[in-house]
Amino acid sequence: MNFGTLYLCPTPLGNMEDITLRALRILGEADKIAAEDTRRTRKLLSRYNIHTPLTSYHEHNRHKKGAVILAWLQAGLQVALVSDAGTPGIADPGEALVKDALSNGIQVVSLPGPVAAVTALVASGLPCVPFAFYGFLSARGSDRKATVSRILGEDKTVIFYEAPHRLVKTLAELHADEESRQVVVARELTKVYEQFVRGTLTEVQAHFSVNEPRGECTVLLAGKVNMPCLVEPVMLVEDLLKKGLTKKEAIREAAIRLKLPRNDVYKRVLKKNKDS
Ligand code: SAM
Repeated sequence: MNFGTLYLCPTPLGNMEDITLRALRILGEADKIAAEDTRRTRKLLSRYNIHTPLTSYHEHNRHKKGAVILAWLQAGLQVALVSDAGTPGIADPGEALVKDALSNGIQVVSLPGPVAAVTALVASGLPCVPFAFYGFLSARGSDRKATVSRILGEDKTVIFYEAPHRLVKTLAELHADEESRQVVVARELTKVYEQFVRGTLTEVQAHFSVNEPRGECTVLLAGKVNMPCLVEPVMLVEDLLKKGLTKKEAIREAAIRLKLPRNDVYKRVLKKNKDS
């Protein structure tokens, strides 16, 4: 008997229209759909009139249910894997099932579709290439400290996922070392209250300290040498002036930190002063 295929089916991040025709066809034709959140997937299936049997596959049952899904595939069934939103395998248990399927000789087919990280990146205004994706940051302890210092040391745009109730604390941790680094928080992508909050770590942290973050958040941090915003060197100079440096010292320090010619920073400060 031929083995079945494991199809990785991306689903909408919020807006129900963000699903491909192919994903809908595969969801309709599969023998089983394994979903991270069956309630959420049921809503999607009912919207598109799909009646394929649904089963749960999530972090807490992934060992037991993974074995069941593998047995189905080995028996020739076609299985579509769906995460609660976006692409299965990106910061969810899909990755483990893919590894098991491949190591058992089962074909895995990846359908293209929404990913929160990429959806946020392309509209962030930060350099899109190269980027580093960290999924969820480890929650506490020395791992956490190591991760925070690692992401601040990245010279690529860093993307990570964060729960809204931890956002302010995380921004504060980053801000402790890098006040003027550009950051973007993409909230509720593709939904009615979609919002991009862009600015320095000081500005964005201040914003969310007053406006309690709600909904789903993706955070993007400019790489160490990627300072894309023209006004940014000027903000850094202003921060340094507030810390008591003279104008000359602040410009020199900003130029060193941003790896820009000193004269370039000087001209930007002059221009800003002229414009304001
Ligand atoms: N597999 C998904 C993907 O392809 O992006 C990610 C799953 S991960 C368990 C869920 C996290 O993704 C959320 O906590 C949030 O950080 C991010 N996310 C998901 N939907 C989002 C949205 N609409 N707006 C912003 N971030 C979102």
